[in-house]
Amino acid sequence: MTDKQTDLVGLTQDEIFQSLLSNNLITEKEKFRAKQIWHWIYHHGETSVHKMTTISNELRKEISKFYKVERPLIKEHQLSKDGTRKWLIKLEDGNLIETVFIPEESRGTLCVSSQVGCTLNCKFCFTGTQKLVRNLSTQEILSQLLLARDQLSDWPNSNQRKISNIVFMGMGEPLYNYDNVKRAALIMGDKEGLKLSTKRITLSTSGIVPQILDWGNEVDSRLAISLHATNDNLRNDIVPINKKYPLKDLIKACQDYPRAKNSKRITFEYVMLKGVNDSIADAKKLVKLIAGIPAKINLIPFNPWPESPYECSNPDQIKKFSDIVNNAGYASPVRKTRGQDIMAACGQLKSSSVKVRKSILRKGL
Ligand code: SAH
Ligand code: SF4
Repeated sequence: MTDKQTDLVGLTQDEIFQSLLSNNLITEKEKFRAKQIWHWIYHHGETSVHKMTTISNELRKEISKFYKVERPLIKEHQLSKDGTRKWLIKLEDGNLIETVFIPEESRGTLCVSSQVGCTLNCKFCFTGTQKLVRNLSTQEILSQLLLARDQLSDWPNSNQRKISNIVFMGMGEPLYNYDNVKRAALIMGDKEGLKLSTKRITLSTSGIVPQILDWGNEVDSRLAISLHATNDNLRNDIVPINKKYPLKDLIKACQDYPRAKNSKRITFEYVMLKGVNDSIADAKKLVKLIAGIPAKINLIPFNPWPESPYECSNPDQIKKFSDIVNNAGYASPVRKTRGQDIMAACGQLKSSSVKVRKSILRKGL
Protein backbone atom coordinates (compact mmCIF):
# COMPACT_ATOMS: atom_id res chain seq x y z
CA MET A 1 0.00 0.00 0.00
CA THR A 2 1.13 3.53 -0.70
CA ASP A 3 -0.07 6.84 0.68
CA LYS A 4 -1.22 7.76 -2.79
CA GLN A 5 -4.10 5.31 -2.72
CA THR A 6 -7.50 6.99 -2.56
CA ASP A 7 -9.95 5.67 0.01
CA LEU A 8 -13.10 4.61 -1.78
CA VAL A 9 -15.24 5.26 1.30
CA GLY A 10 -16.77 8.71 1.10
CA LEU A 11 -16.94 8.90 -2.69
CA THR A 12 -20.36 8.73 -4.31
CA GLN A 13 -21.00 5.91 -6.78
CA ASP A 14 -20.68 8.35 -9.64
CA GLU A 15 -17.41 9.72 -8.26
CA ILE A 16 -16.03 6.17 -8.10
CA PHE A 17 -17.01 5.70 -11.74
CA GLN A 18 -15.44 9.00 -12.83
CA SER A 19 -12.29 8.25 -10.89
CA LEU A 20 -11.87 4.74 -12.34
CA LEU A 21 -12.41 6.26 -15.75
CA SER A 22 -9.83 9.00 -15.29
CA ASN A 23 -7.29 6.40 -14.17
CA ASN A 24 -8.01 4.43 -17.38
CA LEU A 25 -9.10 1.36 -15.44
CA ILE A 26 -12.48 1.08 -17.16
CA THR A 27 -14.30 2.43 -20.21
CA GLU A 28 -17.36 4.70 -20.42
CA LYS A 29 -19.52 1.61 -20.84
CA GLU A 30 -18.43 0.03 -17.56
CA LYS A 31 -20.47 2.04 -15.09
CA PHE A 32 -21.46 -1.28 -13.54
CA ARG A 33 -17.92 -1.62 -12.15
CA ALA A 34 -18.58 1.29 -9.79
CA LYS A 35 -21.84 -0.41 -8.83
CA GLN A 36 -20.03 -3.66 -8.07
CA ILE A 37 -17.44 -1.91 -5.90
CA TRP A 38 -20.20 0.00 -4.12
CA HIS A 39 -22.02 -3.22 -3.37
CA TRP A 40 -18.89 -4.80 -1.90
CA ILE A 41 -18.15 -1.83 0.32
CA TYR A 42 -21.61 -0.94 1.54
CA HIS A 43 -23.55 -4.17 1.27
CA HIS A 44 -20.91 -6.73 2.23
CA GLY A 45 -18.60 -4.51 4.28
CA GLU A 46 -15.58 -5.71 2.31
CA THR A 47 -12.33 -3.90 3.06
CA SER A 48 -10.03 -5.67 0.61
CA VAL A 49 -10.24 -4.86 -3.09
CA HIS A 50 -8.61 -8.25 -3.71
CA LYS A 51 -11.68 -10.00 -2.32
CA MET A 52 -14.19 -8.23 -4.56
CA THR A 53 -14.62 -11.43 -6.51
CA THR A 54 -17.24 -10.28 -9.01
CA ILE A 55 -14.41 -8.31 -10.61
CA SER A 56 -11.71 -10.10 -12.59
CA ASN A 57 -8.49 -10.85 -10.77
CA GLU A 58 -6.50 -8.70 -13.14
CA LEU A 59 -8.69 -5.65 -12.75
CA ARG A 60 -8.75 -6.07 -8.96
CA LYS A 61 -4.98 -5.93 -8.96
CA GLU A 62 -5.02 -2.72 -11.01
CA ILE A 63 -7.74 -1.13 -8.87
CA SER A 64 -5.86 -1.91 -5.67
CA LYS A 65 -2.86 0.05 -6.93
CA PHE A 66 -4.97 3.21 -6.90
CA TYR A 67 -7.57 2.61 -4.21
CA LYS A 68 -8.05 1.30 -0.71
CA VAL A 69 -10.86 0.76 1.80
CA GLU A 70 -9.48 1.48 5.23
CA ARG A 71 -11.05 1.56 8.67
CA PRO A 72 -9.75 3.85 11.39
CA LEU A 73 -8.20 2.16 14.42
CA ILE A 74 -10.10 1.35 17.58
CA LYS A 75 -8.10 2.70 20.49
CA GLU A 76 -10.51 1.54 23.15
CA HIS A 77 -13.80 -0.32 23.35
CA GLN A 78 -16.02 -0.10 26.41
CA LEU A 79 -19.17 -2.06 27.16
CA SER A 80 -21.63 -0.66 29.68
CA LYS A 81 -23.58 -2.88 32.03
CA ASP A 82 -26.72 -1.84 30.10
CA GLY A 83 -25.30 -3.07 26.78
CA THR A 84 -24.28 0.33 25.44
CA ARG A 85 -20.94 0.29 23.66
CA LYS A 86 -18.51 3.12 23.16
CA TRP A 87 -15.61 3.05 20.74
CA LEU A 88 -12.74 5.49 21.01
CA ILE A 89 -11.53 5.79 17.43
CA LYS A 90 -8.11 6.97 16.35
CA LEU A 91 -8.11 8.88 13.07
CA GLU A 92 -5.26 8.94 10.60
CA ASP A 93 -3.86 12.20 12.00
CA GLY A 94 -3.95 10.83 15.55
CA ASN A 95 -7.09 12.72 16.61
CA LEU A 96 -9.62 10.79 18.64
CA ILE A 97 -13.40 10.64 18.34
CA GLU A 98 -16.12 8.62 20.05
CA THR A 99 -18.99 6.61 18.63
CA VAL A 100 -21.72 5.04 20.77
CA PHE A 101 -24.07 2.11 20.07
CA ILE A 102 -27.30 1.97 22.07
CA PRO A 103 -29.20 -1.32 21.74
CA GLU A 104 -32.91 -1.27 22.54
CA GLU A 105 -35.59 -3.91 22.14
CA SER A 106 -37.05 -2.59 18.91
CA ARG A 107 -34.04 -0.82 17.43
CA GLY A 108 -30.30 -0.25 17.62
CA THR A 109 -29.07 3.31 17.42
CA LEU A 110 -25.60 4.44 16.48
CA CYS A 111 -24.63 7.86 17.78
CA VAL A 112 -22.13 9.31 15.32
CA SER A 113 -19.68 12.20 15.75
CA SER A 114 -19.37 14.95 13.15
CA GLN A 115 -16.38 16.88 14.50
CA VAL A 116 -13.38 16.35 16.73
CA GLY A 117 -14.65 18.34 19.73
CA CYS A 118 -17.04 21.24 19.27
CA THR A 119 -16.58 25.00 19.04
CA LEU A 120 -19.88 25.92 20.60
CA ASN A 121 -19.22 25.73 24.34
CA CYS A 122 -22.72 24.95 25.58
CA LYS A 123 -22.26 25.23 29.31
CA PHE A 124 -23.65 21.81 30.23
CA CYS A 125 -21.74 19.83 27.59
CA PHE A 126 -18.43 18.04 28.11
CA THR A 127 -17.62 17.97 24.37
CA GLY A 128 -17.72 21.78 24.34
CA THR A 129 -14.79 21.88 26.77
CA GLN A 130 -12.47 20.15 24.32
CA LYS A 131 -9.88 22.51 22.99
CA LEU A 132 -8.92 20.97 19.70
CA VAL A 133 -11.64 21.04 17.06
CA ARG A 134 -11.75 20.03 13.43
CA ASN A 135 -14.36 18.81 10.97
CA LEU A 136 -14.49 15.11 10.15
CA SER A 137 -14.22 14.06 6.51
CA THR A 138 -17.05 12.16 4.85
CA GLN A 139 -14.90 9.05 5.10
CA GLU A 140 -14.36 9.54 8.83
CA ILE A 141 -18.08 10.00 9.44
CA LEU A 142 -19.10 6.97 7.37
CA SER A 143 -16.33 4.82 8.81
CA GLN A 144 -17.89 5.08 12.26
CA LEU A 145 -20.89 3.17 10.92
CA LEU A 146 -18.82 0.71 8.89
CA LEU A 147 -16.57 0.01 11.83
CA ALA A 148 -19.50 -0.46 14.21
CA ARG A 149 -21.05 -2.89 11.71
CA ASP A 150 -17.75 -4.84 11.67
CA GLN A 151 -17.67 -4.91 15.46
CA LEU A 152 -21.27 -6.07 15.80
CA SER A 153 -21.05 -8.56 12.88
CA ASP A 154 -23.85 -6.55 11.33
CA TRP A 155 -23.23 -7.15 7.64
CA PRO A 156 -25.94 -8.78 5.51
CA ASN A 157 -25.28 -12.30 6.71
CA SER A 158 -26.43 -11.44 10.23
CA ASN A 159 -30.04 -12.44 10.87
CA GLN A 160 -31.27 -9.16 12.13
CA ARG A 161 -29.93 -5.70 11.42
CA LYS A 162 -28.41 -4.49 14.69
CA ILE A 163 -27.87 -0.87 13.69
CA SER A 164 -31.24 0.35 12.47
CA ASN A 165 -31.00 4.07 13.25
CA ILE A 166 -28.36 6.78 13.08
CA VAL A 167 -28.31 9.90 15.21
CA PHE A 168 -25.86 12.74 14.64
CA MET A 169 -25.70 13.35 18.37
CA GLY A 170 -22.08 12.50 19.06
CA MET A 171 -19.28 15.00 19.26
CA GLY A 172 -19.61 18.20 17.31
CA GLU A 173 -22.18 20.43 15.66
CA PRO A 174 -23.13 18.59 12.46
CA LEU A 175 -24.40 21.70 10.68
CA TYR A 176 -20.96 23.31 11.09
CA ASN A 177 -19.65 20.46 8.94
CA TYR A 178 -22.53 20.66 6.53
CA ASP A 179 -21.08 19.27 3.30
CA ASN A 180 -19.38 16.22 4.76
CA VAL A 181 -22.29 15.30 7.02
CA LYS A 182 -24.66 15.68 4.08
CA ARG A 183 -22.56 13.46 1.84
CA ALA A 184 -22.30 10.86 4.60
CA ALA A 185 -26.06 10.93 5.29
CA LEU A 186 -26.87 10.54 1.60
CA ILE A 187 -24.46 7.60 1.27
CA MET A 188 -25.94 6.01 4.42
CA GLY A 189 -29.37 6.34 2.85
CA ASP A 190 -28.39 4.87 -0.52
CA LYS A 191 -30.76 2.09 -1.51
CA GLU A 192 -28.05 0.00 -3.15
CA GLY A 193 -25.75 0.20 -0.16
CA LEU A 194 -26.35 0.85 3.51
CA LYS A 195 -30.09 1.34 2.98
CA LEU A 196 -30.76 3.53 6.01
CA SER A 197 -33.60 5.71 4.83
CA THR A 198 -33.55 9.36 5.92
CA LYS A 199 -36.47 8.46 8.20
CA ARG A 200 -33.96 6.50 10.24
CA ILE A 201 -31.40 9.28 10.39
CA THR A 202 -31.71 12.12 12.91
CA LEU A 203 -29.67 15.28 12.75
CA SER A 204 -29.35 17.07 16.08
CA THR A 205 -28.39 20.73 16.05
CA SER A 206 -27.94 23.48 18.57
CA GLY A 207 -29.70 25.74 16.09
CA ILE A 208 -27.63 26.88 13.09
CA VAL A 209 -30.66 28.49 11.48
CA PRO A 210 -29.59 29.01 7.83
CA GLN A 211 -28.32 25.45 7.50
CA ILE A 212 -31.45 23.93 9.06
CA LEU A 213 -33.47 24.88 6.03
CA ASP A 214 -30.73 23.86 3.59
CA TRP A 215 -30.65 20.46 5.29
CA GLY A 216 -34.42 20.21 5.08
CA ASN A 217 -34.37 20.92 1.36
CA GLU A 218 -31.39 18.73 0.50
CA VAL A 219 -31.60 15.79 2.92
CA ASP A 220 -34.83 16.13 4.93
CA SER A 221 -33.93 13.63 7.61
CA ARG A 222 -35.50 13.68 11.03
CA LEU A 223 -34.53 16.79 12.97
CA ALA A 224 -33.76 17.29 16.64
CA ILE A 225 -33.28 20.77 18.07
CA SER A 226 -31.26 21.25 21.23
CA LEU A 227 -33.58 23.83 22.72
CA HIS A 228 -32.86 23.69 26.48
CA ALA A 229 -34.30 27.13 27.28
CA THR A 230 -37.50 29.03 26.56
CA ASN A 231 -36.20 32.59 26.65
CA ASP A 232 -33.29 34.28 24.92
CA ASN A 233 -31.63 35.44 28.13
CA LEU A 234 -31.14 31.94 29.48
CA ARG A 235 -30.44 30.39 26.10
CA ASN A 236 -27.77 33.02 25.36
CA ASP A 237 -26.08 31.86 28.54
CA ILE A 238 -26.29 28.07 28.24
CA VAL A 239 -26.37 27.64 24.42
CA PRO A 240 -24.28 30.64 23.33
CA ILE A 241 -24.99 30.20 19.59
CA ASN A 242 -28.40 31.65 20.52
CA LYS A 243 -26.79 35.11 20.47
CA LYS A 244 -26.35 34.67 16.74
CA TYR A 245 -29.58 32.80 16.01
CA PRO A 246 -32.18 33.77 18.62
CA LEU A 247 -35.26 31.73 19.49
CA LYS A 248 -37.61 33.62 17.17
CA ASP A 249 -35.48 32.67 14.13
CA LEU A 250 -34.95 29.13 15.35
CA ILE A 251 -38.66 28.51 15.82
CA LYS A 252 -39.38 29.96 12.38
CA ALA A 253 -36.82 27.56 10.84
CA CYS A 254 -38.61 24.66 12.57
CA GLN A 255 -41.97 25.80 11.26
CA ASP A 256 -40.54 25.92 7.75
CA TYR A 257 -38.71 22.57 7.92
CA PRO A 258 -40.18 20.44 5.12
CA ARG A 259 -40.97 17.39 7.28
CA ALA A 260 -42.76 19.60 9.82
CA LYS A 261 -44.79 21.13 7.02
CA ASN A 262 -45.85 17.59 6.16
CA SER A 263 -47.07 17.11 9.76
CA LYS A 264 -44.07 15.01 10.77
CA ARG A 265 -42.69 15.64 14.19
CA ILE A 266 -39.57 17.56 15.09
CA THR A 267 -37.88 16.53 18.33
CA PHE A 268 -37.01 19.24 20.82
CA GLU A 269 -34.28 18.20 23.22
CA TYR A 270 -34.43 19.75 26.65
CA VAL A 271 -31.75 18.99 29.22
CA MET A 272 -33.11 19.12 32.77
CA LEU A 273 -30.90 21.43 34.84
CA LYS A 274 -31.86 21.80 38.48
CA GLY A 275 -33.03 25.32 39.32
CA VAL A 276 -31.99 26.63 35.91
CA ASN A 277 -34.62 25.70 33.31
CA ASP A 278 -36.88 23.19 35.07
CA SER A 279 -39.64 25.31 36.66
CA ILE A 280 -43.36 24.91 36.03
CA ALA A 281 -43.30 28.34 34.39
CA ASP A 282 -40.57 27.08 32.02
CA ALA A 283 -42.69 24.09 31.05
CA LYS A 284 -45.64 26.36 30.28
CA LYS A 285 -43.45 28.71 28.24
CA LEU A 286 -42.05 25.76 26.33
CA VAL A 287 -45.49 24.64 25.26
CA LYS A 288 -46.35 28.16 24.10
CA LEU A 289 -43.07 28.58 22.27
CA ILE A 290 -43.52 25.55 20.03
CA ALA A 291 -47.29 25.89 19.57
CA GLY A 292 -48.32 24.79 16.09
CA ILE A 293 -45.20 22.76 15.35
CA PRO A 294 -45.71 18.98 15.19
CA ALA A 295 -43.32 18.00 17.92
CA LYS A 296 -42.07 15.60 20.51
CA ILE A 297 -40.14 16.88 23.51
CA ASN A 298 -37.28 14.76 24.71
CA LEU A 299 -36.47 15.55 28.32
CA ILE A 300 -32.84 14.62 28.95
CA PRO A 301 -31.70 14.20 32.54
CA PHE A 302 -28.48 16.18 32.83
CA ASN A 303 -25.49 13.86 32.70
CA PRO A 304 -22.67 15.06 34.90
CA TRP A 305 -19.00 15.12 33.95
CA PRO A 306 -15.88 16.05 35.92
CA GLU A 307 -16.28 19.60 37.29
CA SER A 308 -19.59 20.14 35.50
CA PRO A 309 -21.30 23.26 36.82
CA TYR A 310 -24.86 21.87 37.01
CA GLU A 311 -26.97 19.28 38.76
CA CYS A 312 -29.75 17.20 37.27
CA SER A 313 -33.31 18.18 38.22
CA ASN A 314 -35.03 16.01 40.82
CA PRO A 315 -37.12 13.16 39.41
CA ASP A 316 -40.35 14.62 40.83
CA GLN A 317 -39.61 17.97 39.16
CA ILE A 318 -38.94 16.21 35.85
CA LYS A 319 -42.28 14.41 36.30
CA LYS A 320 -44.15 17.68 36.96
CA PHE A 321 -42.47 19.29 33.95
CA SER A 322 -43.27 16.32 31.76
CA ASP A 323 -46.92 16.27 32.87
CA ILE A 324 -47.45 19.86 31.77
CA VAL A 325 -45.92 19.19 28.38
CA ASN A 326 -47.91 15.96 28.05
CA ASN A 327 -51.18 17.61 28.99
CA ALA A 328 -50.58 20.14 26.25
CA GLY A 329 -50.65 17.25 23.79
CA TYR A 330 -46.95 16.63 23.24
CA ALA A 331 -45.23 13.34 23.84
CA SER A 332 -42.51 14.11 26.35
CA PRO A 333 -40.49 10.97 27.04
CA VAL A 334 -37.73 11.28 29.59
CA ARG A 335 -34.66 9.99 27.81
CA LYS A 336 -33.33 6.95 29.56
CA THR A 337 -29.74 7.54 30.49
CA ARG A 338 -27.61 4.94 28.75
CA GLY A 339 -23.98 4.08 29.16
CA GLN A 340 -23.33 6.51 32.00
CA ASP A 341 -20.88 4.10 33.68
CA ILE A 342 -18.63 4.38 30.62
CA MET A 343 -19.20 8.13 30.08
CA ALA A 344 -21.16 7.42 26.91
CA ALA A 345 -24.34 9.32 27.76
CA CYS A 346 -25.48 12.53 26.04
CA GLY A 347 -22.99 15.33 26.48
CA GLN A 348 -20.34 13.14 28.09
CA LEU A 349 -18.19 12.51 25.03
CA LYS A 350 -14.77 14.06 25.11
CA SER A 351 -11.83 12.46 23.43
CA SER A 352 -8.97 14.84 24.04
CA SER A 353 -6.35 13.90 26.54
CA VAL A 354 -5.82 17.61 27.12
CA LYS A 355 -8.02 18.47 30.05
CA VAL A 356 -9.25 22.04 29.90
CA ARG A 357 -10.65 23.52 33.06
CA LYS A 358 -14.14 24.87 32.60
CA SER A 359 -13.21 28.06 34.47
CA ILE A 360 -10.48 28.80 31.94
CA LEU A 361 -12.80 28.23 29.01
CA ARG A 362 -15.51 30.37 30.55
CA LYS A 363 -13.21 33.39 30.39
CA GLY A 364 -13.10 33.03 26.62
CA LEU A 365 -16.86 33.09 26.24
N1 SAH B 1 -24.09 19.38 18.78
C1 SAH B 1 -25.35 18.82 18.55
C2 SAH B 1 -25.39 17.31 18.70
C3 SAH B 1 -24.66 16.65 19.85
S1 SAH B 1 -25.23 16.76 21.48
C4 SAH B 1 -26.38 19.43 19.43
O1 SAH B 1 -26.02 20.15 20.35
O2 SAH B 1 -27.56 19.21 19.17
C5 SAH B 1 -26.63 15.66 21.70
C6 SAH B 1 -27.62 16.20 22.77
O3 SAH B 1 -27.09 16.05 24.12
C7 SAH B 1 -27.89 17.68 22.60
O4 SAH B 1 -29.26 17.95 22.75
C8 SAH B 1 -27.10 18.28 23.72
O5 SAH B 1 -27.55 19.55 24.06
C9 SAH B 1 -27.29 17.27 24.82
N2 SAH B 1 -26.31 17.36 25.92
C10 SAH B 1 -25.11 17.95 25.91
N3 SAH B 1 -24.52 17.83 27.12
C11 SAH B 1 -25.38 17.16 27.91
C12 SAH B 1 -25.31 16.68 29.26
N4 SAH B 1 -24.26 16.90 30.00
N5 SAH B 1 -26.37 16.00 29.74
C13 SAH B 1 -27.44 15.74 28.94
N6 SAH B 1 -27.54 16.14 27.67
C14 SAH B 1 -26.53 16.85 27.15
FE1 SF4 C 1 -21.43 21.35 20.76
FE2 SF4 C 1 -23.82 20.16 20.91
FE3 SF4 C 1 -22.12 20.10 23.00
FE4 SF4 C 1 -23.31 22.39 22.33
S1 SF4 C 1 -24.31 20.51 23.07
S2 SF4 C 1 -21.12 22.12 22.84
S3 SF4 C 1 -23.39 22.24 20.11
S4 SF4 C 1 -21.80 19.16 21.00
